[in-house]
Amino acid sequence: MIKAKLFALVIPLATFTAGVMLLPFVDDLPAGLELIRHYAAYPIILTCLALSFSFNQSRLFFVLYVTAIFYALVLGDLVPPQLFQPFDEFRFIQLVFLLYLLAILFFLFLQERGVITVQGILRLALCTVLPLLPLYLAGEQSVLSMEWLSMTVFPEEVSQRLPLPDIIVAFYVIVVWVVLGKLLYRPGLVETSYFSLLAGAGIALFYYPEIARVQFMFTLALTVVLFFILRNSFQLAYQDELTGLSGRRALKEQMRKLGSTFSIAMMDIDHFKKFNDRYGHDVGDEVLKMVAGHIRKTGNGGKAFRYGGEEFTLVFPGKNIDDVIPSLEKLRSEIADTRFYVRGSNRPQSKESGLKMRKGKPAGRSRDIHVTISIGVSDSERSGNSPDEVIKVADKALYRAKKKGRNQVSK
Ligand code: GH3
Ligand code: MG
Ligand code: MG
Repeated sequence: MIKAKLFALVIPLATFTAGVMLLPFVDDLPAGLELIRHYAAYPIILTCLALSFSFNQSRLFFVLYVTAIFYALVLGDLVPPQLFQPFDEFRFIQLVFLLYLLAILFFLFLQERGVITVQGILRLALCTVLPLLPLYLAGEQSVLSMEWLSMTVFPEEVSQRLPLPDIIVAFYVIVVWVVLGKLLYRPGLVETSYFSLLAGAGIALFYYPEIARVQFMFTLALTVVLFFILRNSFQLAYQDELTGLSGRRALKEQMRKLGSTFSIAMMDIDHFKKFNDRYGHDVGDEVLKMVAGHIRKTGNGGKAFRYGGEEFTLVFPGKNIDDVIPSLEKLRSEIADTRFYVRGSNRPQSKESGLKMRKGKPAGRSRDIHVTISIGVSDSERSGNSPDEVIKVADKALYRAKKKGRNQVSK
């Protein structure tokens, strides 16, 4: 999780810092490159739209759609019909930017509802129609007063240096903080992408109307989003959804990377079937998550995987059996000492309401659940250099641990 948060921040920040340093070089390009600089963002945004659509990431899809409209308007590729003359173009861009920020805030808190659904179509219509509002407001005889736009928020000397009205900059800062807050709480694809788009659009608008720089910053922001979309789909293929641990495919890759010394532990929850039968599958799932949480925190260089069902694997590169047994014993006893308390009926309605975990002595009530795991471990010294062979031997050791009465480590 911490790694994911760091990644979600470092990638855009490093990219944009490098981008800002490169800005002086993008101003004057030969004609061919200028064309690329202008239009490069469009195929990237189309790819991002297609991917977010096919991955059912509608919240990302809509914000990308709004980004495309915003970008095309800023660049003048989409010429707004100037229905309300005289028309203040700069004010129009400012207002569209304000709407863009509102759209990001709106979709940040909205639930995933798909694109080709009634709600999705309504959202799409809203995103298409809303830019018409600034069109009216930028017409100078609009009946709504635009005085609020020139309100000063910052001290005079700061205010003078800002390329946009104070109120828009202040709102931008608020939206960035809200997105950042959500990103630090749970760094999903949506939060990470919104943050990158906000950073890119903010820097771009800072340089507006220097169109070359605007083009470059938008292209960069969209490239970062494309990177995160691809990385996310890659992770989905490698990660187990329920427990968040790496899955079987990742284990196979890890096994290919092992050197000559390593240990592998195979783990299996004891009597899990009975447990499922008694308390229901939802509670079973919660127990799996909690056990996985313990296994993930084993430490000692151990990499955790969900092998399948209620079986887990820990791979310790560079460690032999004697190095890892104390950590495995600690893990086993930690899980055995944790009590899971099922509230209410035996088969809870919802998985959130069903289970609580606490440490300490068993209360001795039938609804206090004891979860234990059995562990089999082997290493490359005992079982040869082939990871497949080490897994087989560890599996046999696990079988012995079960036979000997479970809740123990066997080698
Ligand atoms: P033992 O101590 O010998 O390991 O007994 P066991 O009951 O744990 O062994 P067994 O392999 O027979 O049962 C495993 C059970 O795990 C069967 C299945 O219902 C359950 N299971 C596997 N995957 C999941 C899952 O994703 N969620 C839930 N809730 N249960 C699962
Ligand atoms: Mg099993
Ligand atoms: Mg089992």
